[in-house]
Amino acid sequence: MVRVFKFGGASVKDAAAVRNMASILSAYREDSLLIVVSAMGKTTNALETLLKLSEESDHANFERSFDNLKKFHLDIAAGLNENIPHELLLSLESLFDFLHKQLLEKTYPSDRKYDQVVSVGELLSTTIIASWLESQGFRLQHLDARQFIKTDQRYRSANVNWEKTSEAISPLRIELQQAGILLTQGFIGEAPDSSTTTLGREGSDFSAAIFAFCLDAENVTIWKDVPGLLNADPKRFPQTVKLPSISYSEAIELAYYGATIIHPKTIKPLQNKGIQLHIRSFLEPGASPTLISHNCQQDTSVASVIVKDNQLLVSISARDFSFMDEGRLHHIFGKLHHNRIHTNLLQTSALSLSLCLDDREGLADDLIRFFGHDFAVKYNPGLSLLTIRHYREADINPLIESKTVLLEQRSRTTLQFVLA
Ligand code: ASP
Ligand code: MG
Repeated sequence: MVRVFKFGGASVKDAAAVRNMASILSAYREDSLLIVVSAMGKTTNALETLLKLSEESDHANFERSFDNLKKFHLDIAAGLNENIPHELLLSLESLFDFLHKQLLEKTYPSDRKYDQVVSVGELLSTTIIASWLESQGFRLQHLDARQFIKTDQRYRSANVNWEKTSEAISPLRIELQQAGILLTQGFIGEAPDSSTTTLGREGSDFSAAIFAFCLDAENVTIWKDVPGLLNADPKRFPQTVKLPSISYSEAIELAYYGATIIHPKTIKPLQNKGIQLHIRSFLEPGASPTLISHNCQQDTSVASVIVKDNQLLVSISARDFSFMDEGRLHHIFGKLHHNRIHTNLLQTSALSLSLCLDDREGLADDLIRFFGHDFAVKYNPGLSLLTIRHYREADINPLIESKTVLLEQRSRTTLQFVLA
């Protein structure tokens, strides 16, 4: 039976976490396992910060942050091995040399540079873990995911070339039959020109799904620091319930509305082949997981609450008070699509269009630049978007009382509020 496991950053955030991962794996020694691992802890964020610092003139700060990231990894390696194996040390040194060069690279366009830099987080992670697992007697092959995940050249959110990828992954079935573990990186792939690409932040789940799809795996397990898919974010709501089982479609809906637990692109490949997805706690590996499959019987049994903060509510209306008709909507959405601006919620009236968007620095200015010539653009930052899936009337009031509702949208299954 081929299984695919995905371990995210939190599950390998320090030496103790990596040891815990090894103890989980020891229960699966008889299985054919492909393991996809993310960068350790918050490494991807640290790499993003380094990218920013590399563009500023404060060189000392840049070098300090670079050294901190290096120390973070060397400390984990040292926490696992009394003496870091010479070979591992050499590999890490060469990855850090490479990273330093990429960070100071001046000729690449910024998205390309981003991918060459942040992908090193995953490479460092699997290099340390592979060395440790081998020393613990696991039969293991450390694979470079870029030889398997083939993408286009769209840096930072590359599209998978499924034909090429499947061709590259298929031969791994034979290696898997001989049992043992195949260990590789999540998140990263390779463009036709051999440069490195990434699949979008939190993209390691998607990597796991790609491997599972191409290997016809029996199931995929995502190991998390929560006991499964919860009906709300436990950091925000004291009382949460684990969803025991939901359908692929429901999981796609939840991810779409902003449930951050699974990367939205992950489900589709699994759904297409009926590969079950298990979400399990690496802190309680024996506990029952959330099961995601074709079975939709329990989809409506629990109401799920999703909150997205940092929302920008924008209202766009024609300056001449003409209607917000199909032609105008076509123009506006064409522009949004072209600039990769995704809307979380939209509402139209005769004269205006309201959009709720994930805010970012400069977004409001961009929108005024795009539309200000033809339209009056008003905006309201710092809002949250609350989504209740399978709501009951009794659920609603406690969630919105003491807030101002700026916009509301209701369907049979889903209720959404933009709140101030
Ligand atoms: N390390 C990448 C990120 O933090 C990918 C992942 O963790 O899924 O976005
Ligand atoms: Mg991560």
